[in-house]
Amino acid sequence: MKVLAILYNGYKAAEEEPALLGTVENKLGLVEYLQSQGHEFIVSSSKEGPDSDFEKHIVDAEVYISTPFHPGYLTADLIAKAKNLKLCVTAGVGSDHVDLNAAVKAGIQVLEVSGSNVVSVAEHVVMSILLLVRNFVPAHEMIERGDWQVSDIARNAYDLEGKVVGTIGAGRIGYRVLQRLLPFNTKELLYYDYSALPAEAAAAVKARRVEDLKEFVSQCDVVTVNCPLHEGTRGLVNTELLKHFKKGAWLVNTARGAICDKDAVAEAVKSGHLRGYAGDVWNVQPAPKDHSWRYMKNPLGGGNGMVPHYSGTTLDAQARYAAGVRSILQNYLEDKPQDPGNIIIGKTGYETKAYGQR
Ligand code: NAD
Repeated sequence: MKVLAILYNGYKAAEEEPALLGTVENKLGLVEYLQSQGHEFIVSSSKEGPDSDFEKHIVDAEVYISTPFHPGYLTADLIAKAKNLKLCVTAGVGSDHVDLNAAVKAGIQVLEVSGSNVVSVAEHVVMSILLLVRNFVPAHEMIERGDWQVSDIARNAYDLEGKVVGTIGAGRIGYRVLQRLLPFNTKELLYYDYSALPAEAAAAVKARRVEDLKEFVSQCDVVTVNCPLHEGTRGLVNTELLKHFKKGAWLVNTARGAICDKDAVAEAVKSGHLRGYAGDVWNVQPAPKDHSWRYMKNPLGGGNGMVPHYSGTTLDAQARYAAGVRSILQNYLEDKPQDPGNIIIGKTGYETKAYGQR
């Protein structure tokens, strides 16, 4: 069996830190396991264009392992060429880099290591909310510059206490964000999701559901995006929806870059309609040097909390998703049932309700 993995290069860091398992160098710790059973295991970061290792090897691979941090996009065209492909495994959470509808048609299963990095991301969301609301980044930049002007920072710094915070998507990550925000004594915690939380779960975090998206955003001081990218969420936060945000709201998106319209967000931050935007996900990864989200600033020179895509790839998360990929492979090879929570597309189609209502 041929297994193809597209991972990110770790270079010196990966040589010095073997716990960077999700890298080309450390190969998710799978080499011995796969090779000892006689399987061919190709690992590369090369994923763009017809000469890439991705496109070269996908044509006869049986298993494709990928990661959202450096996604090799498995389009419908590539699926049509991948005659041998039976299983896609996401090392992490979020399988939108696979054309899921095309995978269903081709009978390809798609699994991810659900839950493996949801705490890692929820912690990052809370950090990002705080750094925006408290105007942290320009304060730190001021210190590095050698300056000290408290009023320039304090004029745009607030407390999270007393604000309304809402999550688009209240699944594993969104719910954990709500749990972590509870002790901050916000004015209210809201959620927008077509799946309602069980009553006890909503009561435990004192969260109120708002069923209309425009109404939801118009009530929030902070909006955090925690739903998968699918046909119903691509470009969901666009110029039209942003008009319904409170003036001066903060937006945090660690879900997928393409859920938020790149230009609309940059414009809203520049005008101050959004006081700030933070996250780690981009519409193209790696993000080009001139991507507007790298440099956008609000009228007071702050409001940008962007980082590379790493919230879900802490060393703790890598240990969990590497172990999860191995267990998915083991189940596949030994023809054992998979953990139902990991199945996005099973043998007969979608087995999750999280990738849109259909
Ligand atoms: P989950 O499946 O547990 O929850 C997703 C929730 O979103 C579900 O409750 C679903 O009903 C809801 N949803 C789907 N479409 C929606 C819509 N149109 N409007 C409102 N809600 C909608 O998934 P999760 O583990 O919480 O992860 C969510 C997403 O976060 C992943 O799909 C992935 O894209 C992203 N993620 C990012 C990182 C990172 O490193 N930045 C890591 C892990 C996951």
